[in-house]
This record gives sequence, structure tokens and C-alpha cells, in this order.
Amino acid sequence: MSMNTQGRPTSAGDAGEAFRPKTFTGNRALDMEEPLIFEFGRLDVTGVDLDEPEDFVPELGGHERKDALELPGLAEPEAMRHYVRLSRNNYAIDSGLYPLGSCTMKHNPRLNEKMARLPGFGDIHPLQPLSTVKGAVELIDQLSHWLMTLTGTSAVAMSPKAGAHGELCGMMAIKAAHTAAGRDPKIVLVPESAHGTNPATAALLGYKVVNIDARDEDGTVDLDALKRTIAEHQGNIAAIMLTNPNTCGLFERDIIEIAAAIHAADAYFYCDGANFNAIVGKARPGDLGVDAMHINLHKTFSTPHGGGGPGSGPVVLSDRLAPFAPLPFIRKGENGPVLVETAAGTVEGEKPFGRMTAFHGQMGMYVRALSYMLSHGSDGLRQASEDAVLNANYVRVGLQDLMSLPFGERPCMHEVLFDDTFLKDTGVTTLDFAKAMIDEGYHPMTMYFPLVVHGAMLIEPTESESRAALDLFIATMRDLVMSAKRGETARFSGAPYYSPRRRLDETKAARSPILKWTEPEPAEVTPVAAE
Ligand SMILES: *Cc1c(COP(=O)(O)O)cnc(C)c1O
Repeated sequence: MSMNTQGRPTSAGDAGEAFRPKTFTGNRALDMEEPLIFEFGRLDVTGVDLDEPEDFVPELGGHERKDALELPGLAEPEAMRHYVRLSRNNYAIDSGLYPLGSCTMKHNPRLNEKMARLPGFGDIHPLQPLSTVKGAVELIDQLSHWLMTLTGTSAVAMSPKAGAHGELCGMMAIKAAHTAAGRDPKIVLVPESAHGTNPATAALLGYKVVNIDARDEDGTVDLDALKRTIAEHQGNIAAIMLTNPNTCGLFERDIIEIAAAIHAADAYFYCDGANFNAIVGKARPGDLGVDAMHINLHKTFSTPHGGGGPGSGPVVLSDRLAPFAPLPFIRKGENGPVLVETAAGTVEGEKPFGRMTAFHGQMGMYVRALSYMLSHGSDGLRQASEDAVLNANYVRVGLQDLMSLPFGERPCMHEVLFDDTFLKDTGVTTLDFAKAMIDEGYHPMTMYFPLVVHGAMLIEPTESESRAALDLFIATMRDLVMSAKRGETARFSGAPYYSPRRRLDETKAARSPILKWTEPEPAEVTPVAAE
């Protein structure tokens, strides 16, 4: 039996291991089996008591609902418990290391949260008169200033709600610029290692996507292949969409030549800025020839990843694209920043391509991102990038003798990419390996992306992790690799063993999701025959 330093037992010892009772509730200690709200909510219950309205005349012109809403009701403490219990099944950056490559799952500093909750920021409404929210406009302007400063660009569209939305915004600005110049090119070039959102964005705007081959030895863009493709489609190329550092965690070393070749072809350089965390304070994309780049505030600037929720993906723009930035935007005025909300409010030289969102963007995320920037300062931001790169290389060096690096033992940027060569003949796949990491209490790394390497495992520890945390992670990974190599396949093929749910049919969940709850058929009751 283990004891802590005060002599208190910390585990039940071997006897406890052997006997695992089946519990009456199905709960396992604090690990609760939580039903759906529809299964235990009651239609006649609500958390608040409201008086029946008196002399009430509906003003909905006959569109008011006639039948009951049939939403399950809970008392306040029941609602509280339901969601808290569900939340305990979540893995979060606040519960442990989250090495999901390309996603930059870094710590969200609590100072940011405190600033975002200040009533002057937290309680404002987008329909409030501008004269009452001058401070908020000023804050958006300051954040814009630092985004442009850090990227070496001259304009920024703040409203996009996520990286992918920013891609759409940047590519729409590029399309508008071509149209304004009387051109109508049909092709967007996308390297093999690109994130799926890049070709999806191009296709959504009606462009044909042409792939650029990667160099076999390191996964970067093959400059000669790029030049050949440009020559082949001369005059018909709208843009290249390139991630730098790329999704293999490597800096595109020919980026200046790539930009020059693209510009010489009258095309624009869209940079996917998802990996900006690796180079903040070290390199400015504007200096590298980038015309447009989204910045995922929820990656590089530490705002929370909201489970698809409140993201923010501002797009910085070069001089050439700046006139086409969408509404609303902020213009420097004599008496401070002015918010331009409609085409009627534009002046000579401003040619917004339209509007992407109803309002001005995600105020709460702007406050958090600016709080992060100002509390770090330029030296702190540079150190964060350096530490992110250092941590990724620490993991690489700690694992490279046992796992396989597709492009050899060279330094990486902020994430390290392994392939599945080291699992050859073990019967364990990348997926199995990731599931076994869950049993060890880790969120898996990004798997099977980028597509340029077989069975990819992309690990991004970020700068948030201490050396001790990285050492434990490396030791755990080494234990798993040795176990796979020893042929202990059951540890992997059945994993995860300890999570509330085991392996789910992810394909079925994606292809035929059941989004509506239907009451199960009542159980059949056999009537007792009367005498
Ligand atoms: C995260 C990511 C995106 C998309 O960003 P979202 O904010 O999730 O929409 C695009 N490209 C790359 C390389 C990414 O890692």
C-alpha cells in the first residue's frame, strides 16, 4: 500500500485492485454516467417562477407559437449539476498537456479573463450608440495596430470569426483586387501539405485548385515545381495559399523566391497564419512578401479555443489589398479612430468588397488578445515563440531514437512531425497509439495530418509546458513505444480502457449523426389476465 508523507494511504493496494465492484448507479466514484437532459428533464418544470402576464396582447401578427415548446425543464441546482458533470468528461488545456499539432493549445492566462470581464468591455452590446463605446473602438484599433506591427502589414480586417473564415475574407479581398484590375484568373495554387481549409476556401470561391508538389526530402514547397506550374498556367493564377512554417513544422526556406515568383505572375500570396506562434517577434510575414494572412487569435494570442465557439481570425493585408478590406473597418480620424460601417461612409481609395459578419467581431477575444500582447511586451512575445520552438525540439530529441522522423534529425519549428515507420510490424496503428495515450491521461497529438507523411503524428507542446511536464510526456511516450515494440498489442487495440466511452464509430458519427432526440418506445407490459 502506498502512503503519502503524512502516512496516509494513497491507494488501496493490491487487494483493492483485485476487487472491482459493479456499482448500483453505474457511476465510478466521481466519474458519473450522465443521462441526456431529455431523459430526465420534465416538461412542467422551470428554474424561474414568472407571473402570468396580465392583459397581454400578442404583437406577433398571428405568428405566435400555438403548441407547447416541449423543452425539458430542470430546477437550477439540477441544471448546474447536469452541465458540470458533462464538463468533467471534457479534456481541456486547463486539465493537462494538449499536444494537438497545428492547433497551438496554449495556456489562456487568467489576466485575459479578468480584463474581458471588466463591465466596460463585458457588458456592451453591438447595437449601442458608438458614442457610448469609444473605449471599445479604441481597443480594437490598438489591437489592429499591434497585429499590423507584428506582421509588417498595413491593414487588417478584424471581423472574421475564425482562421477558416479569415481565409475566406483574405481570398475575397484577393478576388476583388483582381476584378478591380480587370482580371479574372481561375486557379489557386495549394501545396500538398496544406490544411484542408485552404483548398476548401479556394473551391468555395469558384477557383480551381492546383497542387504543388513537396520536396521528398523535407516536405517544403519544391520551387522548381512551383515555377513550372506557374509557367504552365501563366496569366490564370489568382493566388498561392501557403502555410509558413508549414504543417510539417518546417520553415519554408524559399519563401522570398516563392513570393517573387507569385508576384511576377500577377498573383497574390495568401499565407495561412495558423503557425504564426513559431515566428512572432522573429520574422514579419509582410517582409517575406505575404499579401494576406489570417491570425487565429485562439492559437497565437492565447484566447480560448471555444469548441467551435467564439474564435477570432483577423486578416492582415498588404498595401495592395488594403483598399478592399471588408466593412466594418476602423479609419484613423482627427479625433481618434472612426468606425466605418457602410459603403456610404467610405472615402476615395476605400473599396470594401462587402461585409462578412453582422457586427464588428468578437469583442471578448479582442480584449483577451490585447491583454496577452501588452502583458508580454515585445520581448515576452519573442520569448514565447522561442520557447514554443525549444519545447518542440526538446520533445523531438527526447523521442527521435525510438520514433521515426520522416525528414531526418533536423531542428523543427514549433511542432514535431513523426510518421508511423517505427510501428512497422507491431500491429499497432497511429490511431491505436493515440487511443493508448488517452489511457495515460493525455489528449492525443494530431493524427494522419499532414497527408504528406504516412500515419502522421504531429506534436505541438507549446511554450506553456514546463520541463518537468515535457519529461513526463516523453517518458510516457517512450513507455508506449517500447510496449508496442514488445508486442503488447492489447494495450493499444482495445484502448482507451479507462475513458467514459471506449472507441466510437467516428465515421458513422460524422456521416449519420442523430441530432434529434426521440422518446424511446415504452417497454411492453404483459397484461395480467383477469380471473
Ligand atoms: C487551425 C488551422 C486552420 C483553421 O483555423 P480555424 O481557426 O480552426 O478556423 C487553418 N490552417 C491551419 C494550418 C490550421 O492549423
